[in-house]
Amino acid sequence: MARTQRRDTYPQRLKKSHITATSNKVQPPWSGQNVWRWLLTFYDEQQLQDIQKAWVLDTEEAKDAKNTIATPFKTLHLVACLSPQQGQAQHLDPGFHRLEVGLDAPLLTRQVLLTLCVGQVADTLKELEFEADVVSLHATATPWNRWTVQALARCCRRGTQVWVESHAESQEAESSLMVLLSQAGFVAQAAPSQTAPQTAATPNTPPQTSALSAPALSYTYDPQWDIKTQRRIWRSPAQEPGHCTVLGAGLAGASVAYALARRGWRVLVLDAASMPAAGASGLPAGLMAPQDSRDDSPRSRLIRAGIELTHQHAQRLLIEGQDWAPTGVMTLQMAEDLADNRTETWHPSGAWIRPGQLVRAWLAHPLITFQGHTYVARISHEGPQSWKLWDTQDQLINTSSCVVLANAGGAFELAKTCTTPLTKLPAMEQLQGVLSWGYREAEDPNFAMHPVNGYGSLIPKFPMPEGWAWITGATYEVPRNELELQQHHQHNLERLRQLQPRTAEALSENFEQNHVQHWVGTRCVNSKRLPCVGSLEASGLWIHAALGSRGLSLSALGAELLASRIGAEPWPLPKDLAQHLMVDG
Ligand SMILES: Cc1cc2nc3c(=O)[nH]c(=O)nc-3n(C[C@H](O)[C@H](O)[C@H](O)COP(=O)(O)OP(=O)(O)OC[C@H]3O[C@@H](n4cnc5c(N)ncnc54)[C@H](O)[C@@H]3O)c2cc1C
Repeated sequence: MARTQRRDTYPQRLKKSHITATSNKVQPPWSGQNVWRWLLTFYDEQQLQDIQKAWVLDTEEAKDAKNTIATPFKTLHLVACLSPQQGQAQHLDPGFHRLEVGLDAPLLTRQVLLTLCVGQVADTLKELEFEADVVSLHATATPWNRWTVQALARCCRRGTQVWVESHAESQEAESSLMVLLSQAGFVAQAAPSQTAPQTAATPNTPPQTSALSAPALSYTYDPQWDIKTQRRIWRSPAQEPGHCTVLGAGLAGASVAYALARRGWRVLVLDAASMPAAGASGLPAGLMAPQDSRDDSPRSRLIRAGIELTHQHAQRLLIEGQDWAPTGVMTLQMAEDLADNRTETWHPSGAWIRPGQLVRAWLAHPLITFQGHTYVARISHEGPQSWKLWDTQDQLINTSSCVVLANAGGAFELAKTCTTPLTKLPAMEQLQGVLSWGYREAEDPNFAMHPVNGYGSLIPKFPMPEGWAWITGATYEVPRNELELQQHHQHNLERLRQLQPRTAEALSENFEQNHVQHWVGTRCVNSKRLPCVGSLEASGLWIHAALGSRGLSLSALGAELLASRIGAEPWPLPKDLAQHLMVDG
């Protein structure tokens, strides 16, 4: 049997959980703004930390900070480009890595979202889908040419400031960069008076100026021509935080509600059930496990990015050992055409999570209100950014400027009730299934030590209120009677025999004696087997649904993507990857 080990990467150094106070004498460039998008085309850890600190600590409103309802929520986006070598040094795979920092800082209202983009800068710039407020660049750290500067211009709005970090040794490179910038529509600015004097430094050493003040060389993007927008299909003006209604209180709805609330939205989450996590998200425990593929398919990459983000949420919001555990997971692949047909891969990033706990933790944000017993039968569009939700008696439930359909299989039917015809939504399928589970002794050497995935899955040990439990499955049909339910249990046991024979042996008596419990749920999938995220209608109707069997791995990522689009913020994913989730464009 072949066995491999996958390295999973979590850069901890940049995620300083306790940001300490420093006095900041420079007027930060974002003054008064609630969202600030800062693109650094190079990587300088110290500079990133300085900016983060200043953001978290700068605040005219700090005095009101305890009153989270009254204080404006502020988001700083820092997007930094790392070369593949720098990525390797930080244990970061090529691609984008969204790190949520500053949330453990004293203020709940002040978040920093750091997106580290590993790859060649020219490629990264093409994959960014936002307009920066400030861009910092080095003349020498990036091989600038006409195409790279044009790609940079596509990340700018009219008025974006561009700060060029200069060095005594890099004057030649600066001169050619100046020409390229002015050809691309950037207009040179006079040196700001508060700028500290430049000191000579080696090209790789950041200059001794404050990270927050414009350096001597600065530009404004202000081309003399109209800025083309036809290739910016996903860019729409930011919807300012207001009131949003989210339908569905499962992983999809709760994750979106949380992503929006962190940006200052007041979110009403409606669900037909009395409690959150009453649908598929009510499973006793689920696995978050990477999925390898020979060509590292978009699905594999999305799941990896999603797990990276969900880990951060779990670490921040859940109790380890009780609500989740980053146990790692062994993934089994079986190839029938090979003599040695079992391949095991160890994924350290695998984890089990109790989805209901995560849903409730997300919904606990002070700007979120949950309202159960509310079945939404119809939606109507009553003018710009005005959506009305109706119940089965055709009574008005609520009016909202922003609505997110996160009600799994119900989203498709509900979208069809809109007064505006919606054509973009792919059909969704409902796949029911049964999980088998039961209680176990706290210590039992016959059980696997860690979760196993691949041919069904097994979580050998997780806590339920009544004691330690195991869970395995699942099937892909719904049992219609007791006899069929027993067949589902047998099916789960058979798969467990292949997946983890020792545990199957230990449990076979439980199955024979009917000491096994069941949990039935419905997965909602579309033909792409990937979530549907995006805009159903330009003026404020959004969707986050079809999470399939991967709700734990993909809900936080989809939610972050949706909230980034609503607020015209940097995406947590490269554009080419994100488009696999988009229902529009
Ligand atoms: C057997 C099984 C095993 C699974 N195992 C795993 C696993 O190990 N790992 C993993 O990541 N995922 C797993 N999943 C998938 C995971 O459970 C789902 O991806 C996830 O829960 C979907 O979340 P959701 O919020 O989209 O849907 P749901 O949790 O179903 O939430 C939808 C909510 O919308 C509400 N609703 C629907 N229509 C309306 C309406 N018109 N008005 C008001 N409310 C409405 C419903 O009441 C429901 O609460 C499994 C699923 C099943 C069925």
